[in-house]
Amino acid sequence: MVVSPAISPFESLEQALKHYFGYDSFRLGQRQIIASALQQRDSLVVMPTGGGKSLCFQLPALLQPGLMIVVSPLIALMQDQVQLLADNGIAATFLNSSLSGLEVRARSQSILAGQVKLLYIAPERLLSPDFLTAFLPQVQQTIGISAFAIDEAHCVSEWGHDFRPEYRQLNQVRQLFPQVPVLALTATATERVRQDIIAQLNLQAPNVHIASFNRPNLYYEVRPKGKQAYREMVQQIKQINGATIVYCLSRRRVDELASKLQQEGISALPYHAGMSNKDRAENQTRFIRDDVQVMVATIAFGMGINKPDVRLVVHYDLPRNIEGYYQESGRAGRDGEPARCTLYFGVGDIKTIEYLIAQKVDPNSGEPLADEQRIASQQLRRVIDYAEASECRRIIQFGYFGEAFAGQCGQCDNCCHPKPTEDWTLEAQKFLSCVARFAQRGQGFGIKYTIDVLRGSKEKRILANGHDQLSTYGVGKDRSVDQWRTLARSLLHQGLVSETSDGFPVLQLNDLSWQVLRHQRSVEIVALSALQVDRPQPPPPVNQEHVADLYDRLVQLRKRLADQQLVAPYVIFANASLRAMTESQPMTLDQFAQISGVGSRKLTQYGDLFVAEIYAFCQERGLENQPISSAPPVELTPTPLASATQLHTLDLYQRGLSITEIAGQRSLRASSIVRHLSDLLEMGYEIAIDQLVPSDRQTLIEQAIQAIGAESLTKIREHLGESFDYVEIRLVRARWHQQRSQ
Ligand code: ADP
Ligand code: ZN
Repeated sequence: MVVSPAISPFESLEQALKHYFGYDSFRLGQRQIIASALQQRDSLVVMPTGGGKSLCFQLPALLQPGLMIVVSPLIALMQDQVQLLADNGIAATFLNSSLSGLEVRARSQSILAGQVKLLYIAPERLLSPDFLTAFLPQVQQTIGISAFAIDEAHCVSEWGHDFRPEYRQLNQVRQLFPQVPVLALTATATERVRQDIIAQLNLQAPNVHIASFNRPNLYYEVRPKGKQAYREMVQQIKQINGATIVYCLSRRRVDELASKLQQEGISALPYHAGMSNKDRAENQTRFIRDDVQVMVATIAFGMGINKPDVRLVVHYDLPRNIEGYYQESGRAGRDGEPARCTLYFGVGDIKTIEYLIAQKVDPNSGEPLADEQRIASQQLRRVIDYAEASECRRIIQFGYFGEAFAGQCGQCDNCCHPKPTEDWTLEAQKFLSCVARFAQRGQGFGIKYTIDVLRGSKEKRILANGHDQLSTYGVGKDRSVDQWRTLARSLLHQGLVSETSDGFPVLQLNDLSWQVLRHQRSVEIVALSALQVDRPQPPPPVNQEHVADLYDRLVQLRKRLADQQLVAPYVIFANASLRAMTESQPMTLDQFAQISGVGSRKLTQYGDLFVAEIYAFCQERGLENQPISSAPPVELTPTPLASATQLHTLDLYQRGLSITEIAGQRSLRASSIVRHLSDLLEMGYEIAIDQLVPSDRQTLIEQAIQAIGAESLTKIREHLGESFDYVEIRLVRARWHQQRSQ
């Protein structure tokens, strides 16, 4: 589409995208949603987590006159988004309860002065009379309101998993500002919730965009929760070597597992509703800033975080329902890079959840909540089915949301390690015709009952119903109950039979069932013998943090810059951008500007530093890859300056505090402290390292450096062996560099 004159100086939406956000192309759906928003239409955008919803209102905000008002339920998310925008040089701000009256006034003034393009606000504040009927009309008159973007819009629906009554009141903005478009955004999948959003927010002829729920970069797998499970998980965490969330069912399990992992030498912290707000917020920040690798949490964790580079989500306990599992595991890989979702499944978990379900009682009467218990049990069964299934995991997940999926995703354990199948058409016909017999009599039953009839059970209920008279009674004696159950579940997963979902699961024939009955379709299920076999080990994870030394260096540079600004590293650059830099090694600012994720602001802000780092690296290695242009690449100035945080560490260290003490006092990881010290050493600061690394080990490390060079930490460690850790190598190498340069 042609961009309207209002949004010059850009010739296309792509050009605007590159300028503000540094991306070269739109993700699926984004362009069309943005174009529709620019035409002042209402929209409902349903995209899975990580799909790129934010851009769908952020870019229109920048390309239109006036202020975009973004309603968001979570303070942490607001701050995160505003920070990300600020780092792209975009004028955004938020108003919430964390601000003083003075700050609120200052921000309100700059809004009225037209200095802000996006305002993030919680629904309570938006709806407060002062704001809604005094401030907003003033904004509308002075600078105009370009649109209301309602993030997490499923919160308006009681049918969703996160209903918030105050969201219901948001239709007031529609009444007060009927001309201003409303953009509703959510990651929630069910049809009922979508309808509810349109109705509750009174969207007018909205442009409805529903993205596929498929997240192709996620690898799904289920592993047995035997004795080895814990060791396996530890190994996974070490191998992945990236941000990891481990979900557990209870607070106690969270605390236990977190401390067990800590003893293992893994940097892990707990997160659950039983902790103080302060402790929770602190642990969350440390996770987001990459000061700690693993967050062990109950499902209370995750709603409010936006960390795009989570590489592994482990469910160490069984989730309660498929939607929950999809949302929680979906917190992996929002940046679109490969990530892994592992579910550890053991029968013990079923018992635990059944117990929890039995606890669902009316708080007043103490009576069991029969409906809730029934629905919860059925949801649990779907989870168990998922865990035990041998089909493509995505078929089952998407089937749950009503999205058809052909299977063979190539990104789940069952697709990558398929089990042999057997033809069970004949048995399927027996099973389905038994269901048909019930239906002929206007009756409906579940799997267990149907199997009992097939196996000729003498149970009273069957005899009372006269089902011993059916032609299918007893025709399935040659198969065991387990075999029939496996068949029945497989029929359900493959959509060859349907089931009601109101908590009383009753089997129903559908079109595909009739095809089977009419011999138009055969039925394959996984060979039962194969189900007993231990699951083969999946291939090693695609190692994103691949060991390229340049990449490591850029990661370190990013972390230093992030620490200086007290932001999360991903605010500076996404991993994908660092990898693109590693691959194309830009040595001029022009080349650097081509990198995806480098917009105009990041170019001026960070271009020099990154180009210099890359240039220095290439020179050290004597790489042929010299700058292409004849002009000198860039001003290679940076004699790196120590950051405030590094100097703070140095101060404490020189006062005689140990690494652990400094880490404790500063709420940082010990390894961060050591990194500060080694960086300072590299910069030329005098630091005695004898109390950090015993002198005999220093000697060994220096010998290794002399033998194979100082470039690669990884190689030095390989040379030295497992008993040496990177921390000590880094320190000794830093001092070694320092001595060379003197
Ligand atoms: P959602 O809100 O849908 O969960 P986000 O808006 O947070 O997702 O986007 C997820 C990630 O994808 C962010 O890191 C964002 O910067 C990135 N992203 C969004 N759009 C694009 C694009 N067109 N090209 C590259 N990356 C993108
Ligand atoms: Zn698959």
